[in-house]
Amino acid sequence: MFKLLRPLKAGSSLISIRHSARFNSNLVKDDGKPSGGALNGSSSSSSSLEKLRTTQYEYPKNPQFNIPPHVKEKSNDNWLVRYGKYIPIAIALGVGAWSFYSVYYFTNPDAGKSGQEILSPDHFTEFMITKKKEIDDDHFIIELAPRVKSDFLSKFVNSKGYWDGSKLWSVEVKQPEIMVVRKYTPLPVILAKAGEEGQLAMRLISEEGDVGKFCLYIKKYQSGEVARWISKRPVGSILEIRGPYTEYQFKPQPIDRYSEFERPKMQNLPSKVPSDPYTASFLPQGVPLPDNLVFYGAGTGIAPVLQLLLSKNPFKGHVWINYSFKKQAEVPEEFLRLFYFLEKMGRITLQTFDESKNQYLTNVMTPSTPNIQEIETDPEIELEVIKQRIVAEKMKQLKQNGEATNDDTLGELEKLFKETEAKITVGKPKESNPPPTTKTSELTSYNNALHQGYIERDQPKKDPSLAIICGPEGYIGYVAGRKPTELQQGKVAGLLGNQGWDEANVFKM
Ligand SMILES: Cc1cc2nc3c(=O)[nH]c(=O)nc-3n(C[C@H](O)[C@H](O)[C@H](O)COP(=O)(O)OP(=O)(O)OC[C@H]3O[C@@H](n4cnc5c(N)ncnc54)[C@H](O)[C@@H]3O)c2cc1C
Repeated sequence: MFKLLRPLKAGSSLISIRHSARFNSNLVKDDGKPSGGALNGSSSSSSSLEKLRTTQYEYPKNPQFNIPPHVKEKSNDNWLVRYGKYIPIAIALGVGAWSFYSVYYFTNPDAGKSGQEILSPDHFTEFMITKKKEIDDDHFIIELAPRVKSDFLSKFVNSKGYWDGSKLWSVEVKQPEIMVVRKYTPLPVILAKAGEEGQLAMRLISEEGDVGKFCLYIKKYQSGEVARWISKRPVGSILEIRGPYTEYQFKPQPIDRYSEFERPKMQNLPSKVPSDPYTASFLPQGVPLPDNLVFYGAGTGIAPVLQLLLSKNPFKGHVWINYSFKKQAEVPEEFLRLFYFLEKMGRITLQTFDESKNQYLTNVMTPSTPNIQEIETDPEIELEVIKQRIVAEKMKQLKQNGEATNDDTLGELEKLFKETEAKITVGKPKESNPPPTTKTSELTSYNNALHQGYIERDQPKKDPSLAIICGPEGYIGYVAGRKPTELQQGKVAGLLGNQGWDEANVFKM
């Protein structure tokens, strides 16, 4: 109470005394009058203050009005009664505006390209760290969500085509204090609470509910700039992100012409993944099985192959994965689980190299010739390309055997050309390709991808025709020869160079 009077002594305004007194029930008697005791007890009371006090708290009685009935009625009137007549107009306007926007959004291919795009390579977009999981002292995973205010709005942000297994892509994360960016590889997964203790476990994004969300698997270097900074950002912080940037675009395969041959996407429950709609026995004449890939990844360099295998339209060929790490504790256990199921489906073959157990990569696979890359849709050009390849291969063979070309060779080539002409279904655009007449189920009776993997796993596979390497500089140098700069591939050397791989079939990330 004394405290309330002190401000006055110190020059506080009268208004503040009035205010305090009014809202402090201790200062007011039951009858609504001020407690004289409290103020009398004040050593600082003066006669002027006493006077002021009495005049201030002697409230006049409420005047009694004779309120006419119609006025009373109006004062009790609620907003619904008052504005109710406008409600149908407001609803009609809202529905009209919404219909107009919907028609615009779904018919205009550019809708959502400005402002509503989740990501843009031209400017930074804000993402929130929604979850975070420490893997070991140096590795962590963060879940990021676009900073769109509500789930409802998030349905309208444009994320079409980001998760596409025909390319490997990255984003840049900005460290705003020193204004530098670093690239990271988005994974189509989120962190969800699981188990009784609510530990965070990784699960694949759902296209409906997790629009724009992704995770990054990051290693922090003790003297590094950006990853260390990111590792200190708590959940709820904002990261500025730019992208997507295509790092590698896979060359189109003949099988890509057939939309019905898309490989089903990986799911949280592997038993729910349907079997592939294509098998060796079920492909139109002249369409080969997709090319295979070998991936060499070290540390967080494993992320691109996970992106490739977990995205929509996953890589259609077989993938051999060579995964090197310093110790198993740095590997998220979900990665190994996903790899395990992908292996069971027959999509990958995994080999790990644990440095803490003195396991090192020393051997690499040999390359095979890739499928014809039919970029042209003109049948004649396409056939010409194939003929040239046949000639080139025949010449190579003759050179290796130390033989010269003669009439027999030419005759043999003519025969090969004729056979090819008869066999090939030349490049027509995807839409006009008639779907194969035989139903997959008539040729294969797989229940799901796991069943298919079980049956086909041990069947011989064509060697990979492409090698991708991702990891620290030293690792890339050892496996495939150094990259002179971030943007240059340089010569293929190292283990792959020794095994006959070259610039045409090797990509260093
Ligand atoms: C396409 C692409 C995708 C990538 N995806 C991922 C990913 O998913 N996850 C991931 O963790 N990383 C990824 N990276 C790597 C990432 O971009 C960064 O390079 C990494 O996070 C290190 O950045 P930093 O700023 O933390 O460290 P930096 O500051 O760049 O330092 C990196 C290393 O260099 C050392 N160093 C720093 N300064 C010096 C110096 N002056 N002299 C000598 N050594 C020095 C540091 O000690 C550290 O060992 C990707 C890279 C690319 C190109």
